[in-house]
Amino acid sequence: MKALFFDGTLRFCTDVPEPLRPEGWARIRVLKAGICGTDLQILAGYHGYRGILGHEFVGVVEESDDSSMAGRRVVGEINIGCGRCNFCRSGMARHCLERRVPGIAGHPGCMAEFCTLPSSNLHPVPDAIGDERAVFIEPLAAACEILEQVPLTGSERTVVLGDGRLGILCAWVLSTVLEEVTLVGHHPAKLEAAHWRSVKTCDALGDVDRNVDLVVEATGTGRGLEEAITLCRPRGIIILKTTIAQPFKIDLAPVVVREITVVGSRCGRFSDGLQILLAHPDLPLERLITGRYPLEKGIEAFVQARRRENLKVLLEVL
Ligand SMILES: [Zn+2]
Ligand SMILES: [Zn+2]
Repeated sequence: MKALFFDGTLRFCTDVPEPLRPEGWARIRVLKAGICGTDLQILAGYHGYRGILGHEFVGVVEESDDSSMAGRRVVGEINIGCGRCNFCRSGMARHCLERRVPGIAGHPGCMAEFCTLPSSNLHPVPDAIGDERAVFIEPLAAACEILEQVPLTGSERTVVLGDGRLGILCAWVLSTVLEEVTLVGHHPAKLEAAHWRSVKTCDALGDVDRNVDLVVEATGTGRGLEEAITLCRPRGIIILKTTIAQPFKIDLAPVVVREITVVGSRCGRFSDGLQILLAHPDLPLERLITGRYPLEKGIEAFVQARRRENLKVLLEVL
């Protein structure tokens, strides 16, 4: 089958073997896939992953043990747990120590004609949600994870650092429950695109009020945490969203002195992502799509996705 394959070099191949479908799994024909910051980090060495890239997709079930799933349009939770450990049994396969993640760790990804996932990972997509919006459910779920991790009253002064894809999605999700969210970034066009509900934007860190209650760090750089620490009030909360291949050094003394809580935050529940999409049909996701490429032009799509002015680049597989 056709696929975007990474073996130290990103290649478009037409002879990649189709992934196996073990019992209880589904074989999915991919319709669209999204290029995410994590994919770009993998090309830079993150996780040492080799294989078919991609974990954000919408597709149609071609084959499944559960006949009611055949032909349904679905999105898929990306963490494949072992199913046996305490994390898996308590509904936290996202933290299974043996988990595999398509296109990131131990399982072929979705930038291909077909992918496979356990049927229990799949969520049917309601007709009201089009393909291009459905591709955003994975990153939206990751933004929703903040709401699960930090109980909010609605009045918290909140700053999101980073005007990339994830930063904007975090600001939007937070704005569904907060009176005011300030997104800080450096790209005028991205900041312009980010205005929705209570989201305000700012292009200079120096202009942002200090002593904020909640800072979400989604800059995709090592420097972001340092900036977050300077903004956060004593006993405030910093949510860390950046995962980068390169380790970095940072002075953590202010975190101790101001008793700041630092919360690592990664994947969320797809059900939350779906719920946000259904509750907010005006969520302006289309503004984030800055490129659409056929799978065959995947390498070009990645070149575009890496350029700073781009937000979400989609691969049209079928
Ligand atoms: Zn992603
Ligand atoms: Zn497990």
